[in-house]
Amino acid sequence: MPISTNVDVFYRTIRRWKLPKAHIHQRRRFFPHDPPFETPQMASSATTADDDTMVIMPLGGGQEVGRSCILLQFRGRNILLDCGAHPGREGNDSLPFFDSLDDPSEIDLILITHFHIDHCAALPYFTEKTNFRGKIYMTHATKAVMKMLLSDNIKLQTRSRPLYTEAELQCCVDKIEVIDFHQTVEHKGVRFTPTAAGHVLGAAMFTVEIDGIRVLYTGDYSMEEDRHLMQAEVPPGGPPDVLIVESTFGVITLPPKEERESRFTAVVEDIVSRGGTATLPSTSF
Ligand SMILES: [Zn+2]
Repeated sequence: MPISTNVDVFYRTIRRWKLPKAHIHQRRRFFPHDPPFETPQMASSATTADDDTMVIMPLGGGQEVGRSCILLQFRGRNILLDCGAHPGREGNDSLPFFDSLDDPSEIDLILITHFHIDHCAALPYFTEKTNFRGKIYMTHATKAVMKMLLSDNIKLQTRSRPLYTEAELQCCVDKIEVIDFHQTVEHKGVRFTPTAAGHVLGAAMFTVEIDGIRVLYTGDYSMEEDRHLMQAEVPPGGPPDVLIVESTFGVITLPPKEERESRFTAVVEDIVSRGGTATLPSTSF
């Protein structure tokens, strides 16, 4: 994708030959059309300070729903955008493909868009079980709700050992720095600003700027005004140079909100009027 200043953007696929065999097997079930993993195509994952190549590599969430985690590399900076676990899997099998990283200690920054499991549940694993030493940012609300959800998630892991303990979750939470909507923070030459994503409480899109090149990572977002949430804001500053956009429901047109609400309330009314109890599940992704 050509952008404003002769910067090349490469969308890099996972280097499967570094993964354990069991992982490779599962991966190929998901991606039957991938090129054979025996043919490595990529050079070193690091970019240098004067390199005009931007690398975008999904460690999870590419061609699948769940475990959103995208490595963004530009001018020697390494950023993880989200750090989710796959909600339909447990244990190591639910993690993003962290083994595609050359060295977790080279990650300068992790930005978490919102508290849903598929966007943040691998974070305590990454901060407590690898040599990651960078900074982590998210909004106040995301940090508060994430702690509750991940604590609950530990108790729900029944088929395999949880990826981390309550104590490790707390250690991770202690390392998280909070950021307000529209506040710009700079870390190691990376400037980043969250704007409202309209998805859930605290959900943010991040505009990341490195050496004047602006990347917008949306995470999950909604352009629909909700009863309790505003719609996503258009980040100020004009169009970004690079857009990484969530597309899970991008090809689905939902019925109008009024129709969905009246169908829902009619079902609840029917149950309650017959003396029943309506129990509503609340998903965490
Ligand atoms: Zn979400």
